[in-house]
Amino acid sequence: MIDFELSQRDRNILDQVRQQSLVCRQYARHYDENEHEFPPDVLPEAADFPELAGEMLRREEGDSGLGVLGLLVTMGEHWGDYSVRIRRPKGTALGNAALRASGTPEQREKWRSLTLAMAITEPGCGSDPSQVQTTAVLDEGSDEWVINGEKIFVTAGCRAEGVVLWATLDRSAGRAGIKSFLVEKGTPGFVVSQKEKKLGIRADDTAAYVFNDCRIPRGNLLGGKEEIPKAGSGGFKGVMKTFNMTRPLVAAIGLGMGEAALDFTREHLEDCGVDLGYGGAASGQSAAAEKFQRLEAIYEAAKLTILRAAWLADAGQPNNLESSLCKAKTGAAVREITQGCIEILGPLAISRDHLLEKWFRDVRITDIYEGTGEIQRMIIARTLFGYTRADLS
Ligand SMILES: Cc1cc2nc3c(=O)[nH]c(=O)nc-3n(C[C@H](O)[C@H](O)[C@H](O)COP(=O)(O)OP(=O)(O)OC[C@H]3O[C@@H](n4cnc5c(N)ncnc54)[C@H](O)[C@@H]3O)c2cc1C
Repeated sequence: MIDFELSQRDRNILDQVRQQSLVCRQYARHYDENEHEFPPDVLPEAADFPELAGEMLRREEGDSGLGVLGLLVTMGEHWGDYSVRIRRPKGTALGNAALRASGTPEQREKWRSLTLAMAITEPGCGSDPSQVQTTAVLDEGSDEWVINGEKIFVTAGCRAEGVVLWATLDRSAGRAGIKSFLVEKGTPGFVVSQKEKKLGIRADDTAAYVFNDCRIPRGNLLGGKEEIPKAGSGGFKGVMKTFNMTRPLVAAIGLGMGEAALDFTREHLEDCGVDLGYGGAASGQSAAAEKFQRLEAIYEAAKLTILRAAWLADAGQPNNLESSLCKAKTGAAVREITQGCIEILGPLAISRDHLLEKWFRDVRITDIYEGTGEIQRMIIARTLFGYTRADLS
């Protein structure tokens, strides 16, 4: 039986997340307008929120944060502001998830305290990562990999201390030839070439990297398996594991902002005397109330898909399909919710005096990174109908 009942401790944690989020909101506009330039350390001390601090410590110590409570905490944090992400403790970026999923015990120990970005996307390679052109060539003489190539759209690419990088050992081997490598900032030949100016999530930095004869130790191949599998895509599947794990997290980030948009809209409708009339007859309902309730229903449906993926994670069961389902559903839901809230509130919604226009821009990423909505729907169709990649791509 699925049970989403929360303990008193869990409810206390979620209350504290909300309190912290209200503080975050005071600085949301600053982060948005100054694009990743940090204001002074403004958030309250962790000691002000002891139970939340305890939960965060658990995560630093290895809990993935992908169970029901973890995802509700993530939603609550982003109900405050996306900039909460840049205040994460070291070692909690996407590259760190890849390290935990695929690193050897020695690699996990050596790299865990560094913040690691994840660089897959290239100017000619996005949705289909098997097209990676960046190369890694082994120099047997020096026992080093020599990396050459270009990466774009690297989240946290400026502030990260290192990166998990995808490169091919042999382009003719297709996806089987692709491996991940650990590269530390400051390694000669590794340059942060650009910081993007973006539509949304401007609190976070997004960078481009160039690798020019960048030499790294042989032991920096993530997972340590140098051989290219002869058939199938064993190694590639291994590195894709990271995304199966983190897709519900991306969905929870987006839905937290969608919930913020709904709360803001509800408050203003009530201030204007709109009777949301839950339970009343449809014939007596205003158009605004009807539209708002439809958006709330979309929110609830998306939340259930996230909770189901999280519940399976807590139960130690596979949740690949549910991860894609919740990301696809939520990516579309939060676009519709934030746009619908803007339509209901009109000029108030697009004013920079409020955060709704920012949430509208910030949620767009839910349907882009870690696999677009179109790609998630393709994964879902393949899984449900038993199609192979050759059948449906
Ligand atoms: C702010 C931001 C942060 C990012 N962070 C990272 C990061 O940290 N690391 C990283 O490696 N990448 C990152 N990305 C890149 C992101 O993962 C890619 O943008 C995404 O995978 C899509 O790739 P693309 O932009 O090259 O689009 P394309 O692959 O060129 O796709 C263009 C459009 O076609 C659609 N499409 C493509 N193939 C198909 C298909 N077979 N069927 C149907 N539709 C299809 C796509 O859904 C999309 O709408 C980030 C992107 C952004 C915007």
